[in-house]
Amino acid sequence: MDPFYRVLTINCPNCGIHLVRVAQTAHLDFAVCPSCMAAGVYEEVVGDPARLTARYALPEAVKEFVSRLDRQ
Ligand SMILES: [Zn+2]
Repeated sequence: MDPFYRVLTINCPNCGIHLVRVAQTAHLDFAVCPSCMAAGVYEEVVGDPARLTARYALPEAVKEFVSRLDRQ
């Protein structure tokens, strides 16, 4: 089953596009940029978008899901 997601009003500092929040019951909530895949823990990125990390070690399922969003 696909995880819950929501487009955020926070922009990626690298691409300027909106980040996506991805929530999975087995994992933390993540904030992810669908373009460059920079990511971070949602709560931390909401407080400070500079906490977004390039090549963040996202769970494989989250990575796949977000890369599929980018292609739609
Ligand atoms: Zn980006």
